[in-house]
Amino acid sequence: MGVELIIMDVLIVLSAIVLSLVYINHSRGSRAFLCEDCRFNTPELCLKTERPRAIDCTSYRPVLEQKPQ
Ligand code: SF4
Repeated sequence: MGVELIIMDVLIVLSAIVLSLVYINHSRGSRAFLCEDCRFNTPELCLKTERPRAIDCTSYRPVLEQKPQ
């Protein structure tokens, strides 16, 4: 195996690590499960079977922040 191929392999692995870190930082939700900070995380508001352990949900909406008065 040539040095060029080793360098190419290292660059591919580093690129994969960087892309993974970017995805983690920009993924939705701040906790392990989306439901934990979803505004619909009650039996009355959400009937999905994934609740309360959804890791992917198109209905996810973060809890609204309280505005200081
Ligand atoms: S809408 Fe999705 S993320 Fe929100 S509580 Fe229901 S299952 Fe969880």
